[in-house]
Amino acid sequence: MTYWFVKSQPHPQSLKFPYDRVQHEKTRQDLTKLLSQLSRWLECYQSDRLPFPQVPVSTDRCRDCSFAVRCQRVEESRDTRLSPPLLPNLAEIEEVSL
Ligand code: SF4
Repeated sequence: MTYWFVKSQPHPQSLKFPYDRVQHEKTRQDLTKLLSQLSRWLECYQSDRLPFPQVPVSTDRCRDCSFAVRCQRVEESRDTRLSPPLLPNLAEIEEVSL
């Protein structure tokens, strides 16, 4: 398999990965299994309002997850990625002499 870096123009660069039909079939099976699992969770959510499963809090994976607010693992006001300060505190900026 060849991965091309589109932004490497005008001298296209690429990386080659070994990949064959056996690996392709294994990937197909893995993705099919995951999609079936997701479909079951979606059906449960739509029919019985059962929440989607979450990883245990103890894994500490939610802290850097993009879905942490929607997943109710982080309060929106605490997620600084969603509301970064637009301007620095002007009082803390040192004067620049011209
Ligand atoms: S916040 Fe992210 S990692 Fe944590 S349970 Fe939700 S989706 Fe999973």
